[in-house]
Amino acid sequence: MTPYRGRFAPTPSGPLHLGSLVAALASYLDARHVGGEWLLRIEDIDPPRCPPGTDSVILRQLEVFGLHWDGPVRFQSERDEAYQDALDRLRDQGLAYPCSCSRRQWRDHAVYPGWCRCGVREPGKPQAWRLRSDLGLRPVTWQDRLFGEQTFDPAALGDVVLKRKDALWAYQLAVVVDDADQGITDVVRGYDLLDNTPWQRQLQHALSLPEPRYLHLPLVIGEDGQKLSKQNLAPALPCDEVHARPLLSRALGLLDQPIDPEQRHAPVEAQLAEAIARWDSTRLVPVNHRQG
Ligand code: GLU
Repeated sequence: MTPYRGRFAPTPSGPLHLGSLVAALASYLDARHVGGEWLLRIEDIDPPRCPPGTDSVILRQLEVFGLHWDGPVRFQSERDEAYQDALDRLRDQGLAYPCSCSRRQWRDHAVYPGWCRCGVREPGKPQAWRLRSDLGLRPVTWQDRLFGEQTFDPAALGDVVLKRKDALWAYQLAVVVDDADQGITDVVRGYDLLDNTPWQRQLQHALSLPEPRYLHLPLVIGEDGQKLSKQNLAPALPCDEVHARPLLSRALGLLDQPIDPEQRHAPVEAQLAEAIARWDSTRLVPVNHRQG
C-alpha cells in the first residue's frame, strides 16, 4: 500500500479562521494517526485576492496550533510551467479549448453552454481556457470517506475554466497537477469542494494521474448560517499559543472527536498528541454543515 500523504492547501486571501482550522486539523490528524506525512501548499494563484504577507501569517498560525508540516512549503505561484504543460496536454487531446465568452453573455444559462467548443466565437477578444466536460470521463463516481458513494455527470456542471482570461491559473487545474506532483494519497477538505471533485477526477483521468481518496468535511457555519469566511469577517485565529488552546479543543469537538474538558487549556502539543492517538474519522457525522 502507498504510504499516506496528506496536505493542507489554503488560499492566502486572508488569515485562517475556525473553519480553516477544522480542515487543517482533520487532514493533519488523519495523516499523523497512521504515521503519514502532511504537506503544506499555499494556493497563491490569484494575486489580486491575496494580500501580501498573508502566507506568513498562515504559516505562523499553523505553527502556533502545533500543526507542523513536512518538507518545504509549496507555492503555486511558482508552478506556471507545470500547469501550462498540463493544459497543453489537454489541448492536444481536444479536452481544452479557448473561449472568448463573458459571464454576461451566458447569464440566462445555469452553466456555460459551450459556445466556443468548436471555435472561438470572438477571436479578437481575450480568451480563457475551458475543459470539455462533455468529452472527459463520464459519469464520475468515487467513494467519499464520509459521504459515501458519489456520482456526477461533469457535463451537467459545465465546462469549467482552467486558465482565466487574465492568464491566471484556475484552482481546478492547479490543484490536480500539484496533488499528483506531491504524491498526495488523501485529500481531506471542506464539503464546499465536494462538487468540484468531478472536474478534478476528469482532469486526473485525462492526464493519467492517480486518484487520491477523498474525505469532505462538514463546513463550519456562523450564526448567520453562512460558511465562515474572510468575506463574512470570521475572526482570525490567534497567533499566540495560550489563546490557541481552547480553540483547538473546540475544533476537535467540531470534528466529533472525544474531548476532555480538563484539557481545554492544556498546551496544544499535549492536546494534539492525545488527538492523534484517538483520531477516528468514522466518528464524523455526515452533515454538510455544523454551527461553529
Ligand atoms: N485552496 C482551497 C481553499 O482554500 C482548498 C483547496 C483544496 O483543499 O483542494 O479553499
